[in-house]
Amino acid sequence: MSKKLLLKDAHIEGIRYFETYRKQGGYTAAEKALKMTPDEILEEVKTSGLRGRGGAGFPTGMKWSFLAKPEGVPRHLVVNADESEPGTFKDRYLMEFLPHLLIEGMLISSFCLGSNVSYIYIRGEYSWIPDILEEAIEEAKAAGFLGKNILGTGFDCEIYVQRGGGAYICGEETALLESLEGKRGNPRLKPPFPAVKGLWERPTVVNNVESIAAIVPIIDITGAEYAKIGVGRSTGTKLISACGNINKPGVYEIDMTITVEEFIYSDEYCGGIPNGKRLKACIPGGSSVPIVPANLLLKTVNGEPRYMNYESLADGGFATGTMMGSGGFIVLDEDQCIVEHTMTLARFYHHESCGQCTPCREGTGWMHKILKKIEKGEGKMEDIDLLWDIQRKIEGNTICPLGDAAAWPVAAAIRHFRDEFEWHVKNPELCLTQNYGLANY
Ligand code: NAD
Repeated sequence: MSKKLLLKDAHIEGIRYFETYRKQGGYTAAEKALKMTPDEILEEVKTSGLRGRGGAGFPTGMKWSFLAKPEGVPRHLVVNADESEPGTFKDRYLMEFLPHLLIEGMLISSFCLGSNVSYIYIRGEYSWIPDILEEAIEEAKAAGFLGKNILGTGFDCEIYVQRGGGAYICGEETALLESLEGKRGNPRLKPPFPAVKGLWERPTVVNNVESIAAIVPIIDITGAEYAKIGVGRSTGTKLISACGNINKPGVYEIDMTITVEEFIYSDEYCGGIPNGKRLKACIPGGSSVPIVPANLLLKTVNGEPRYMNYESLADGGFATGTMMGSGGFIVLDEDQCIVEHTMTLARFYHHESCGQCTPCREGTGWMHKILKKIEKGEGKMEDIDLLWDIQRKIEGNTICPLGDAAAWPVAAAIRHFRDEFEWHVKNPELCLTQNYGLANY
């Protein structure tokens, strides 16, 4: 059974409220941290090996150490709660059920980074959650854990919640900052990174909800103990939101030592595939990461079992591997049509492209159009090569990673399931009535 650090109290009634959270030991990590120096906290975070839980997996301690500290210029912590990656809903769960875990993590992080005004930028579709967060902020303030001179340390910290308008692109950190400044959410060129020039051109750390929540157990048990959980550079625990063709969709906390097979089939997690169907493929890290067919999902290129961690999922690179990403685990059974699935994703990325870069603005539209044609049985063999060509021209040629995120699912689908695309071209009359299921292999 995986160790629980973040969700250990999630089942307790009333844990959403300060009184219950405090009774369970809440805010003791903050009390401990506020007696440490910011440098000591930073060392703990570095030692923990925590990697950004939003998707990129960038080491959190390293990001914090890049924060510029020019004299007299305010610094900010911004929590990225614009969780919009299809298949990803773990941050929603954390904020809805454990808002004080996030607030406590923000207090510790703000103290370490020297942020007196910190923000939570939350996606517009999570319309009921800002009220939960604002209530938790008020409770923490009333108990002396936010506001002026927190616990008599002389440290002041305010937290504000900003609602987004429902644009996927505003989850990209620089688009998020533009939006937070009241502008259209167009991504900025990096560098400069937000750590140097972020919100209102001030040094800013942008971190995912789960990353900031993880700061609480890190301080609680120490960075060294946190680093002992997990394996290799996949330290600590990771929240996985599991959905698709599984018996038990939901949010699970895993310690990154379990295998993919165990995660899908064990009753502790997904509980297997409904109706005894066979596994066809999986997207383990949110829609932006490459889809992997079952045979490569359960084994690495070296024939080892594939584990639910950053290194093992990526084994073999893009040719045979995938990525941990945001932990949005989407399972597809034997009845699912990969062409239709890829077309749906292409429609999403086309709709969500901000339009700033030509390869993404035009390319996502072309990919959607061609996929729609193939899916309806109106495609030609050359269309498959054209699709491959377009995705290659998008990848790496845009300001932000939305272009890559749109290209990779198409590339992986063609790489692993080309026969299925060809079947659609060769069997136009069957396309709308029959899926290319595993029976065709
Ligand atoms: P990135 O690798 O560009 O950056 C990761 C983080 O490290 C950023 O905060 C960046 O500022 C920082 N960083 C990197 N190099 C730095 C340097 N030299 N100095 C200072 N800071 C530095 O990735 P990204 O664009 O932030 O994120 C891409 C990932 O987001 C994708 O892999 C995808 O999985 C994920 N994603 C998640 C969601 C979601 O809903 N959770 C949605 C879309 C995409």
